[in-house]
Amino acid sequence: QETIRVAIAGYGNLGRSVEAIVGAQRDMELVAIFSRRDSLETASRVIPAADAPAHADEIDVLFLCLGSATDIPEQAPGFAEHFTTVDTYDNHHLIPAHRAAMDAAARRGGRLAVVATGWDPGLFSLNRVLAGALFPAPQQHTFWGTGVSQGHSDAVRRIAGVRKAVQYTIPSGEAIEAAKRGEAAELRATDAHIRDVYVVADPGEEDRIEREIRTLPDYFVGYDTRVSFIDDAEFDARHTGMPHGGHVITSGDLNGSHSAVEFSLELGRNPDFTAACQVAYGRAAARLAAAGETGARTVLEIPPYLLSPTGLDDLVKGYV
Ligand code: NDP
Repeated sequence: QETIRVAIAGYGNLGRSVEAIVGAQRDMELVAIFSRRDSLETASRVIPAADAPAHADEIDVLFLCLGSATDIPEQAPGFAEHFTTVDTYDNHHLIPAHRAAMDAAARRGGRLAVVATGWDPGLFSLNRVLAGALFPAPQQHTFWGTGVSQGHSDAVRRIAGVRKAVQYTIPSGEAIEAAKRGEAAELRATDAHIRDVYVVADPGEEDRIEREIRTLPDYFVGYDTRVSFIDDAEFDARHTGMPHGGHVITSGDLNGSHSAVEFSLELGRNPDFTAACQVAYGRAAARLAAAGETGARTVLEIPPYLLSPTGLDDLVKGYV
């Protein structure tokens, strides 16, 4: 088996995780990291992002680890013209437009672009389609968490007297059980999630801060909110990670019986797991590109066996 030569564009949380996860693959070799910054803390070879096209012949797959807010819409099509790309673009409602832009760019360059991999979108998307196809009238719910909500954490940090804060969103167990029974159609977001807040505060300010958190409209009002005040050491030791995860639950009636399908993820560190998904789709992208395929592909269009380093015959023997 030939080694897949890969590169990374953008060296943030995800780029660093892809670097580490590629390092653990037997069939991949990291050629370079393209960055807009002059110097990065890494032992890998760093090349200015603007010079990337000149290195296209050295690279089989380019992992786009840029931000989804503006980087990907602005820059991804430019990369897709020169490279086989894999991204984790996660603005769900803009994915059709992103797919179209990447398809056009990839076809212009005779390249392949795998778009919106990761876990949501990505593995969750696959599961929503797979489970939804089984029922004539499926009920489907996606619950996110336990995970850090950046927006809610920022909102708490803006309150006077808050030194450090993090907010975890936790799906309610009752809501998940209702979804499995097919009784969650009326569920409101406020009933589906618990908001768990950890704060390091100025001494003596706890009561006021807790009151301000609980009464923040749009963020906490109406939610089952838990507020814990902890000290610096506990915060640093236990609340600086990036856990995430969630559940896709699909249920429905079949011939008078009721069935439910659940797909769950518990992620110790979001970028590490997202990178693992992206890297596996990178293997599929390399194989599809080598077979001459061009244009954009979503996770729905990629056969699962192409993600695995194990050959198809062994997969059929061991896993089917
Ligand atoms: P970051 O904000 O850490 O990095 C985004 C880009 O910003 C980097 O590519 C880097 O580009 C630049 N950057 C990073 N650190 C610095 C810095 N200190 N100073 C200046 N520039 C910096 O984003 P993440 O890596 O956490 O996430 C990337 C994307 O992955 C997110 O936008 C999100 O949409 C997506 N994602 C998707 C998931 C899924 O399941 N599909 C799950 C999780 C995330 P450069 O090196 O060129 O400067």
